Amino acid sequence: MSDASSAALEGLICSLRAALGDDGVRTGDAIPEHAMTDWTGHAPARPAALLLPRSTAEVARALALCHEAGQSVVPQGGMTGLAGGAVARADEIALSLARFAGIEDIDEASATMTARAGTTLQAAQEAASAVGFELGLDLGARGSCQIGGNLATNAGGNRVIQSGTARDQVLGLEAVLASGAILSSMTKMTKNNTGYDLKQLFIGSEGTLGIITRAVLRLNPPRGRRHTALVALDGYDAVVKLLRVLSARFGNDIGAFEIMWPDFFDFGVSLTAQARSPFASAYPLYALIEHAGLDPEDDGEAFSAALAQALDAGLVRDAVLAQSVADARALWAVRECTAEFPSRMDPVNFDVSLPIGFIGRFVDACRAALDARWPSNRAYFFGHIGDSNLHVTVDGHSVPGVAHDDIYGFVYDMLASYGGSVSAEHGIGLLKRAYLPLTRSPEELAAMRAIKAALDPKGILNPGKVI
Ligand code: ZN
Repeated sequence: MSDASSAALEGLICSLRAALGDDGVRTGDAIPEHAMTDWTGHAPARPAALLLPRSTAEVARALALCHEAGQSVVPQGGMTGLAGGAVARADEIALSLARFAGIEDIDEASATMTARAGTTLQAAQEAASAVGFELGLDLGARGSCQIGGNLATNAGGNRVIQSGTARDQVLGLEAVLASGAILSSMTKMTKNNTGYDLKQLFIGSEGTLGIITRAVLRLNPPRGRRHTALVALDGYDAVVKLLRVLSARFGNDIGAFEIMWPDFFDFGVSLTAQARSPFASAYPLYALIEHAGLDPEDDGEAFSAALAQALDAGLVRDAVLAQSVADARALWAVRECTAEFPSRMDPVNFDVSLPIGFIGRFVDACRAALDARWPSNRAYFFGHIGDSNLHVTVDGHSVPGVAHDDIYGFVYDMLASYGGSVSAEHGIGLLKRAYLPLTRSPEELAAMRAIKAALDPKGILNPGKVI
């Protein structure tokens, strides 16, 4: 950095201290490590400063000062992202919403909650259940991730098949634009046909169009007991048929429909306490299915009857029904072996989406192509198939000397030929920016750039991310 620009940065940090107070601006060693990278393990960098505003007005003041100075700002939530979207460079200023947290209002008549961006997802979930409701959003990072980050990245997670993604939970939103202007649309109405739906621009834009400060979220009636089953199937056609049979019978009482291909299933099983499959034989596909209706008295009879019928009809080859919470946990442990990936391999992770009907063919073609190109490769396929979301993990250790970028490019090129999307739920951030044109047309990208230029003409908000 030149002397002139470091003097300008120092002047700006002085003005920011005057606006936010000394404890609202951290520099040097006072910046905690968790502000330096996210869960991707992206090379950590200490930003030039970390801002900790305590209100929407303080976010606005901070952005107005940075805008005037032409200073880049990187918004940060709980830093649990998987695409590098909140990682700041050394010459950028990070802005964390951590101190602007808490539930401002719960409106039982409207079934809504008004939450500040820095509220952790878990705190919001607990506040909802304290008054007999449930949030439609849940993900593994719930204890650390924040509502603002969940919305900025349009997080997916565990309840998408039942209640949709983060985008679907939002009735009202407040965001601060790069200039410091506050755009407040904190409505509690489901129906609101009054022109452009501006809130949806900020949801999923990963902090490139504005900084989300508050949101009005829908509250749902709580789900009753969860009934869990692991089933074995003959092929992908049976998977799709079973999903349709169960959806027709139970609607969105089906709370999970997770598919595991044998490589993934065998790996998951090998890590469990029993280290063996609950089935006597091996099968081409496995599904972990959860039923959670609204009736708290539901004993799971209807769900097990539907599975028995699918067995009789030959749609399902074998099935194990959890008889207890411990049983259910043991079945989920197979699916949750993904937590062990980072310590047991060099994971090259894909989070892609395809039309549900194409996923089986894509997996077969992808496996064949990987085997032809790199015969020693170990790849694991699994996904939230009810949400059209497939995850693929290739173990980099199984293909020594092959750069991760080569594996990314190879799989993404195939995906593009199937009309798939390079990100289903993790976002674009830094990691997938180069591949965005595989999923979005030149016309779509031009429209995105026009929106970015209109809302952030100096390009100070999270530059280098998304587009
Ligand atoms: Zn996922």
